[in-house]
Amino acid sequence: MEITDVRAVPLSATIPEEHQFRSDFGARVKNDATLIYVDTDAGITGIGTSLGTPSVVKAIVEDSLRSALVGEDPTYVERLWSKLYNGSRTEPALERGYTQPRYDRRGITFEAISGIDIALWDILGKHLEQPIYKLLGAARDSVQAYGSGGWAPGEEAGPQLQGYVDEHGFDAVKMRVVGEDDFGIEHTVSRVESARETLGDDIDIMVDAHGSLDVTTAIRLANRLEEYDIGWFEEPVTPDDHAALAEVRASTEIPIATGESEFTRFDYRSLLEHDATDILQPDVARAGGFTEIRRVAAMGSARGVQTIPHAWGSAVLLAASIHLAMALPNCHILEVPQAPYMPMLWDFFEEDFEIDDGRVVAPSRPGLGFTVQDDVEERFAFTEGPEYVY
Ligand SMILES: [Mg+2]
Repeated sequence: MEITDVRAVPLSATIPEEHQFRSDFGARVKNDATLIYVDTDAGITGIGTSLGTPSVVKAIVEDSLRSALVGEDPTYVERLWSKLYNGSRTEPALERGYTQPRYDRRGITFEAISGIDIALWDILGKHLEQPIYKLLGAARDSVQAYGSGGWAPGEEAGPQLQGYVDEHGFDAVKMRVVGEDDFGIEHTVSRVESARETLGDDIDIMVDAHGSLDVTTAIRLANRLEEYDIGWFEEPVTPDDHAALAEVRASTEIPIATGESEFTRFDYRSLLEHDATDILQPDVARAGGFTEIRRVAAMGSARGVQTIPHAWGSAVLLAASIHLAMALPNCHILEVPQAPYMPMLWDFFEEDFEIDDGRVVAPSRPGLGFTVQDDVEERFAFTEGPEYVY
């Protein structure tokens, strides 16, 4: 089997004004995604997705990475991963097992490599007629899910989270602790208190600060939130500062989670070497696809650290994240986005995601196990401009 073409398709879904929610990033006015297609001469097409600005992803995939793939056997996934990562120094690097990355080795180039890796695993699964998580060595067939959202201000936070629980049977939810226009510790504590009162003691609550606090504020907030039995405190400070994350971690009994903004196993190794986190959260469409995240999770297991994929975005991203969660032994829960308007997540595949009684169930179909609806490129025609407007 040979790869015949590699294509990237940018997509957008405009969010109607009544469904736009405001966070520290601004008002969300649209969702973007980029589909990656890898075609073969066997009639199998693999599907993946990349984070990153869609027009840039398209240029990198089609003008730069495509030529390294056409003519190759798509089932040699590790070889192709190394070929993309090592750039023009491929052959000596592959022969000697060296890692000699291309110059643009993080950022959108790496997100594009991640998307291609997802598509290659989809081809492998379709070719061998097995779901990806079985090829990776399945750990389970279903996993606990948590409803991820919680931007509502003040006392609306509790009812918003309770809505997720009522709709899907979640027994865990995540709320934003920077979503208000006027962030303040007292206001944030009162939102979490109201959430705990509404949800009772049997629902896990996690909090996410989007990396927006300084160390002192993060520690003060963490100490105040300890009495509400918080499952984890995600990105309390900028994810780039691993030493600062470690400082927060050492000052609270709430577990720290981070990793959605990292690229390559080397970023995660740095987090582990800094004792910066209890939970690694790689995004499969950014951190290197299935191939790299397997290595990340193995490193985490050697430190007693969980690997719980970040899964906020399109249907293809959630599908890939489901396979990861089923295959990683040190993953006990998976993110399920609960934004009010996400048609590229919920109205994108011909098949539905199976979420039963708060658990996500693995698809048994080959590869990713989902078929993109025929009309997505018309319904989600790409529009220029930012996803958030302040
Ligand atoms: Mg997050």
